[in-house]
Amino acid sequence: MKIIVDKYLHSSPHDLKNIKIALDEKKLSGTSEYITNYEEKLAEYFKIKFVVAQSSGSAALHSALYALNVKPGDEVVLPAISPLPTALPIITAGAIPIFVDIKPDTFGFDITDLKKKLTKKTKAAILVPLWGYPIDYTETIKVLKKYNVPLIEDCAQSHGTLINGMQTGSFGAVGCWSTHDRKLLSTGEGGFIATKDKKISDKIRQFSQLGYMNNIDYGVNYKLSSVQAALGVSRLPDIEMHVEKRTANARLLEKGLIDTEIVPLPILENSRPNYYGFVIKLPFSKEKNKKFINMLEERGIPSDMLQYKYKPLYKRELFKKYYKDKCPVTENLIDSITTLPVHPGIKKSEISYMIKQIKEILKEL
Ligand SMILES: *Cc1c(COP(=O)(O)O)cnc(C)c1O
Repeated sequence: MKIIVDKYLHSSPHDLKNIKIALDEKKLSGTSEYITNYEEKLAEYFKIKFVVAQSSGSAALHSALYALNVKPGDEVVLPAISPLPTALPIITAGAIPIFVDIKPDTFGFDITDLKKKLTKKTKAAILVPLWGYPIDYTETIKVLKKYNVPLIEDCAQSHGTLINGMQTGSFGAVGCWSTHDRKLLSTGEGGFIATKDKKISDKIRQFSQLGYMNNIDYGVNYKLSSVQAALGVSRLPDIEMHVEKRTANARLLEKGLIDTEIVPLPILENSRPNYYGFVIKLPFSKEKNKKFINMLEERGIPSDMLQYKYKPLYKRELFKKYYKDKCPVTENLIDSITTLPVHPGIKKSEISYMIKQIKEILKEL
């Protein structure tokens, strides 16, 4: 029997109660007291001092680039494996995305390629702990410091991911999160930024609140409404539940596939992934791996590789004009991985179904 492994939409029993509290403030806009309450709770959970709520993860990335003084014509380095929404705000800022290759089996920079791509025009770097997988930042931060280039962490997929006990977003100059429906913290649409630097946080707040309409400073409206923040407040404590259930599901899949040629993507030492997605490495050629992913899809098991038409950024139409050189390690990884859903809505029977289907497909290929 074919089972369709469904998407997951999180909710909390406290949602309505918190929305009522937000409504009772008699101010629903982004300057409501309720937003301050939400920002304080985020700062406490993520252990980063200054938090500014934003209307989306994309808005957060644009605000971060603005606050770090990225101007039209400046360059921003990022891994070619980054998803489309990480790169779009670079264009919004008028800057030029420069694509860097990755270290094998990770979503971190290849240091040699990074050094090659840093120029006088480089004004920021972005890293993305994709599917919630921790990245070893140590070397990257050393190199960026030397070149005086600030790091933005795009944590849209890594709420709850820990490296040496610290949340992603704590390592660079600014961390940017999305709270879109699919992320581990969901307010429908929304996002936030966190930073240790008060000056950066002040600049982001002013920028995203129309320059405080002071007639001097430029700004946009990237404010989050208090009704959205209410969902954030009620669901924030559930991030840990998410990570636990996703980890347990990933372990079951790992165990079920142990006697196959499929291996999980390795995990950085002293770290905790949040398993936004469970990434596996496939044993075949590029074409055969593609076939494997399509066969899974036909059997009701979705893959982010298909859903987001995964490819290096420089192969996407919009970014082709920024192509400089091929990133071979990136291409290799994209052609040899896929994701399995491990969200909290998945039943044990669905995990057994996934394992059974994978084993059947491996036999057929
Ligand atoms: C979802 C996502 C974004 C964009 O967030 P929105 O809230 O949808 O604007 C940016 N970067 C990454 C890595 C994402 O997964």
